[in-house]
Amino acid sequence: PLMDGMQKVGDLFGSGKMFLPQVVKSARVMKKAVSYLKPFMEKESKGESKKRGKIILATVKGDVHDIGKNIVAIVLQCNNYEVIDLGVMVPAEKILRIAKEENADIIGLSGLITPSLDEMVYVAKEMKRQVFETPLLIGGATTSSKHTAIKIAPEYENTTVRVKDASRVSHIVGDLLNPDKKIEFDGKIKKEQENQRIAFDAKPKNDLVDYEEAYRNRLTLDWENEDIAVPSFIGLKQITDYPLEEIRKYIDWTFFFSAWEMRGSYPKILNDPVRGKAARELFDNANNLLDRIINKKLLQANVAYGFWPANSEKDDIILYEDEKITGELVRFNMLRQQKIRNGITLSLSDFIAPKNSGINDYIGAFAITTGINAEELAKKYETENDDYNAIMIKTLADRLAEAFAELMHQRVRKEWGFPDGKDITNQDLIKEKYRGIRPAFGYPACPNHEEKIKLFKILDSEKIGMRLTENFSMIPAASVSGLYFSSKKAKYFAIGKIDIP
Ligand code: SAH
Repeated sequence: PLMDGMQKVGDLFGSGKMFLPQVVKSARVMKKAVSYLKPFMEKESKGESKKRGKIILATVKGDVHDIGKNIVAIVLQCNNYEVIDLGVMVPAEKILRIAKEENADIIGLSGLITPSLDEMVYVAKEMKRQVFETPLLIGGATTSSKHTAIKIAPEYENTTVRVKDASRVSHIVGDLLNPDKKIEFDGKIKKEQENQRIAFDAKPKNDLVDYEEAYRNRLTLDWENEDIAVPSFIGLKQITDYPLEEIRKYIDWTFFFSAWEMRGSYPKILNDPVRGKAARELFDNANNLLDRIINKKLLQANVAYGFWPANSEKDDIILYEDEKITGELVRFNMLRQQKIRNGITLSLSDFIAPKNSGINDYIGAFAITTGINAEELAKKYETENDDYNAIMIKTLADRLAEAFAELMHQRVRKEWGFPDGKDITNQDLIKEKYRGIRPAFGYPACPNHEEKIKLFKILDSEKIGMRLTENFSMIPAASVSGLYFSSKKAKYFAIGKIDIP
């Protein structure tokens, strides 16, 4: 009967009549019941029923993000598939070795940061080299059907499918494991991917200017007349155990709902005619757990941040040790757009006064985590067969990290001498209605993740419990880092394609 129930839950979810939080809660009932029944079933033997297939899931090497993967695992288990979850930061060699040993029917890869895309390409190549035929599923926030079609699928040449979200996974897996449907499904995917490659190849490739021309067309500000803000201190500060109840006020709940695959903006979603009930229940559960996290200090919020004198030199941003402007502390190598828009190209370095202007400018840097203990807490829930709270802890830790970043940025604006007006609202903060920006390495204005190594060094991040993986994913997962720019002209943009000579 439990399995019949799950079948119904799976069907309702697949047809959009049930929402992810309800599925995860149902799975919890199932898992807890099964763990109670298991000893009896083993006694009477043959209690275990046949699974529909065996699926290996892993977050790829160098990446620590697993909320999406864990959700997919639960949805598959609900649909009576056996899931072997290899966890996070799993090298290709291990994924493929276990897939062979276990004779897996399907391999699913997950990842969040952009370097994981290359890691997935590598897994695909290895699968071809080792003559696999197992279908390959691709999932995660930065993956796309386009990237899968153009970069991953051609390397493997066997079925490679991008799974947009957990609500699609059981349909896709069902089709792939059904011999009657597989051929048709395969043909459809291969055709779509071929079309995506043709469209990509047909696009003009020569719309980039060469680097020298891009640089000549850079944004040049009138630095003599720019208002240079002077920070109230120079150098590094670290704060550990920042009060979580302060941070909580800054949470952007819209992103919390989207982590649970419930689309719609907060607070409107709470009264949505279709999603409202599920949204309110999720919101109440989240706030109850948040109360516990805060009262029992289950998570810890730490930050390292500081201000330094700075100048730009071509696309570099130089940070000086002190106001004597002699010793270079570090040099961030920013990238520049190579597509001229409205007559200019942009680099984040354009928002910092150039060295040869003779003007002393400043920059800020930060690294924040609210993820210390989060993994352990989630593990504890998992061992109690409570995936709902395991995922809840992780989604809340992520939200607290973003909230803390918002709070610190506001504090930094004050310490930099341009505080927000008294009547600024949370909504204004979310809409970035304030002076300056806080670009994060790995995002479109500064897509090179590698610069985080320098950032973490000047912030002495290990002291607040933060480090990087070999592909520059931050550990703990619930972390945010970046630079602070004070210029009124500073804005977010995308570097886009560049031409590396
Ligand atoms: N409020 C959201 C987080 C917003 S993410 C939440 O709670 O999850 C917005 C952040 O992404 C920005 O503050 C900046 O750090 C980063 N960002 C956005 N666009 C960027 C770009 N083009 N380049 C660099 N960083 C960017």
